[in-house]
Amino acid sequence: MDRLSPINLLPGIGPKRAISYNAAGIDTIGGLLEYYPRDYINLNLRYDILQCPVEENVCISAMLTKKIPAVRLRNKLNITKAVIEDETGKADVSVFNMPTFFDKLEVGESYIFYGRAKSFGGRLQVSNPRVFDKDTTGFIPVYPSVSGVTQDRIIENIKTALSRITINDFIDEQSLAEFNLIGLSDAVNRIHFPSDKEENEAAKRRLAFNEVYVYRKKLAEIKAEFKTAAGRKMKKDAKIMEKFFGLLPFELTASQKKAISEVTADLTGDSPMNRMLCGDVGSGKTAVAAAACVLCYANGYQSAFMAPTEILARQHFSTLEKLLTPLGIKTACVIGALSAREHRETLEKIAAGEIHVAIGTHALIADKAEFCSLALVITDEQHRFGVRQREKLADKGGNPHRLIMSATPIPRTMAMMLYGDLDISNLTDMPSGRKPIETFAVTDKLRDRAYSFIKEQIEAGRQAYIVCARIDENEDDYNSVESYAENLRNGSFAGYNIGTLHGRLTAEQSAEIMGNFINGKTQILVSTTVIEVGVDVPNATVILIEDAELFGLSQLHQLRGRVGRSVYQSYCILMTANPTAEVRERLKYLSETASGVDIAMYDLEKRGAGDFLGTRQSGFNQFRFASYITLELLKDVDKYIEKSGGCDE
Ligand code: ADP
Ligand code: MG
Repeated sequence: MDRLSPINLLPGIGPKRAISYNAAGIDTIGGLLEYYPRDYINLNLRYDILQCPVEENVCISAMLTKKIPAVRLRNKLNITKAVIEDETGKADVSVFNMPTFFDKLEVGESYIFYGRAKSFGGRLQVSNPRVFDKDTTGFIPVYPSVSGVTQDRIIENIKTALSRITINDFIDEQSLAEFNLIGLSDAVNRIHFPSDKEENEAAKRRLAFNEVYVYRKKLAEIKAEFKTAAGRKMKKDAKIMEKFFGLLPFELTASQKKAISEVTADLTGDSPMNRMLCGDVGSGKTAVAAAACVLCYANGYQSAFMAPTEILARQHFSTLEKLLTPLGIKTACVIGALSAREHRETLEKIAAGEIHVAIGTHALIADKAEFCSLALVITDEQHRFGVRQREKLADKGGNPHRLIMSATPIPRTMAMMLYGDLDISNLTDMPSGRKPIETFAVTDKLRDRAYSFIKEQIEAGRQAYIVCARIDENEDDYNSVESYAENLRNGSFAGYNIGTLHGRLTAEQSAEIMGNFINGKTQILVSTTVIEVGVDVPNATVILIEDAELFGLSQLHQLRGRVGRSVYQSYCILMTANPTAEVRERLKYLSETASGVDIAMYDLEKRGAGDFLGTRQSGFNQFRFASYITLELLKDVDKYIEKSGGCDE
């Protein structure tokens, strides 16, 4: 019996329970050991009945003084109660539809009851409790539920598994000491059954180390595989590239030039390109991507360009169309807003090779679009997709070259972990002539002044964004797009053109609203964070972010990047209602710091990687111990890999 043995081989698990476990995705004994608790019951923290907090899960150690037989409440619902008592008072314990629940308990005996505490007419009630022997101490794991298997059974099965399976550590004793890690066997034991918080923390840190290590190793393997695959080898074409550069309305920055030569080297090399282009908002990633499309076209191949939203797809389309059409390159935009006929015709042209660069959302690839000679897949703002999605995209058209553009600034150490399968090009310098964005963190007492300031900007011909965290009113107390815009129209900004944008509009509606903002008809765009990614309106020079404390610093930095995209001086106002000292400090840091990487580093140091990795949107939510992934841990994994030669690069 080992980790890979099917779960039904474990003593105590029959065929029926094995099926229940399988249904929860647990197939092997190792899988069961990796079924980590979602929480713990701390039996060391017990409350007296009198002092017990309500609307919380609590432990109460008390004597059972009375059992009350089941009472039928209505059809199919009955309640069974008991009374418990300690030196401070009495409380009720109740369970639903379990009339024999108290049979195994004795009147006059003491137990620990754990459950949700509520108050009914001043009397404490604990409903559907778990009951433990009065002498039980330590932490009891609480597992995500497995249909058909009780918590007690899961605990029993995991205990058996722990006693039968030898867990071998891949890290040697000396390294464990060096990196302050506990052994793997201890870690697995203590993640399930810690005796105190410290043990549990140590276990989580060790398992976080494993997650990072395993992830990096896997990416290193993917990278090695790509390096040995055959790509579509292209030839350089100085003539068309010169022409393309000549047509650009600006001079390329040094790092754009460097990135273009790195991309060119990849495309003309033997194995497929697998490159990530990192650059802060406004650093000019699109021109680099366009250059790649041009070389691809010169070699007789098609490119696909994918954006995360339709708004961005349209915007990229209009930029690329302008840049590429003079070279004879045919572009097309494939988005949901097309009529069925337009859609079909565009797909036909792509299949026939009449379109050289197709722009769309990732549906372009995931969907039916068939290319006749696809050789390059560009994805913008790929930080939204984890590695698994990246692999899927690569399937299409057999090893196309891939260029991934990310505006999420991340510290190098983190980039090495998350994007270890990719080569990285960095755009480190900004196009010249840009002035740093002036950022102010203020409380809502200064809202009137902020509004006057926005008015001045608009009078000078500029435009403004206002960001609200919510779409609808009454979700909570925070500002919401529609009612906020309504207030502006009826108040401070009566007579101004105000648009609203959020994720619940149809693609056509958003396109029209963005269109009006791009062509200057709309003066103020009140929006949720849908404008976060990539939207480019150079004439917008001020962004006011309401309830700024709700956002992570990196996200605020992204939002701020919507302005400062032209020669005009731009401004970012971060507004909060009742900032805590911590919020003040964070926002102050943001207002004094322009570099996205520095900001990301600050977040990582202060708060761990949980914020960044933890959200579904990040694409990295498979890290179960994300909040234990700190800069220090990343560096330790790095050192360990170097030392052990564990990840060949
Ligand atoms: P991002 O990296 O955020 O995608 P974009 O590619 O959208 O940046 O470029 C931002 C703006 O800067 C665009 O309006 C683009 O035309 C302009 N731009 C790009 N490169 C340069 C450059 N080298 N000099 C001046 N302006 C540039
Ligand atoms: Mg962009």
